[in-house]
Amino acid sequence: MTEIQLSHADYTVGWICALSVEMAAASVMLDETHSNLPVHASDHNAYTLGRIGNHNIAIASLPSGVAGTTSAAVVASQLTSSFPSIRFLLMVGIGGGVPDPDDKDIRLGDVVVSQPGGTSGGVVQFDFGKAQDGTFQRTGMLNKPSEQLLRAVAKVQSDYILGRGKVFDYISKLKNFSDFVYPGEAKDLLFQPDYHHTAPASTCKRCDRSRLVVRLSRSSTVPKVHYGLIASSNQVIRDGEKRDRLAEDLDIICFETEAAGLMDNFPCLVIRGISDYADSHKNDQWHAYAAATAAAFSKELLHAVPSIQGYQERYRQQDRGGQYYPGNYYITGSGPVFLGNVSAGRDINNR
Ligand SMILES: [Zn+2]
Repeated sequence: MTEIQLSHADYTVGWICALSVEMAAASVMLDETHSNLPVHASDHNAYTLGRIGNHNIAIASLPSGVAGTTSAAVVASQLTSSFPSIRFLLMVGIGGGVPDPDDKDIRLGDVVVSQPGGTSGGVVQFDFGKAQDGTFQRTGMLNKPSEQLLRAVAKVQSDYILGRGKVFDYISKLKNFSDFVYPGEAKDLLFQPDYHHTAPASTCKRCDRSRLVVRLSRSSTVPKVHYGLIASSNQVIRDGEKRDRLAEDLDIICFETEAAGLMDNFPCLVIRGISDYADSHKNDQWHAYAAATAAAFSKELLHAVPSIQGYQERYRQQDRGGQYYPGNYYITGSGPVFLGNVSAGRDINNR
């Protein structure tokens, strides 16, 4: 099969992840992959290029072992300079969940999406280092994502109210990869906030089960999607009591360590699969599955974002050349029109 090669200007969505397992999950979500393109010597990112729906996507990962907000900022700035048509960034990967903010009942494998609230743009930046008494300081309120992205989020939210969510369907694309298998509810352990992990085990085998928080079983394994504020910092939270104090003070539902580096500069939405509860029991067991649910939600969201004019030109060029083109939408001045196939698009184009 001939590989599809586009130009840098054809890519309109940047997708940033931090771990190789997140990059793998992202790659599987692509509807098609594209040939790599040369980049300037100053761009050190390694890209995976491809398409989801009508969007061409450049996926970049943080350098191995170098997480954190500064690293994310560097990756984002290199990505947006190599691909000049990028309209927004998605920061996709795993995060630490706050178990029950406002009775939301967040479980491992669920998805958390940054949503603006009050004066915040969806991500709250905080830091422990600057206050003398060991408390944290809120150091930034980051810009909110573009209206276009927020409208797409609202669209997906309404789909879920109507029972039309697609995350579970998209995760099934990963069923042939053993790393991404659902670990099972029996491995979703939430301990009381003041009960600390028994070292040195990397799992909670030696931890006291009588200190588990009793929660009802869910009737379905379909991940839930929660919307709210996400806290971002270079410091990883591994303490249940600190987690709950921060969650209450900042009104947040999830912790992560990269987004604050992105949001000041570029429209960005943060999508996190919950892999732990930001306490001392945190381990790697849920990393892959949580990375998968976040990537699956991102795919669903992209299907809700209308494509743009530049893409329409690409459509026309490819269509004229009689080349393979799998899009289902034709873009008119008033917005996207669903057509179902390319030949119908050609008809409208000629009217
Ligand atoms: Zn433990």
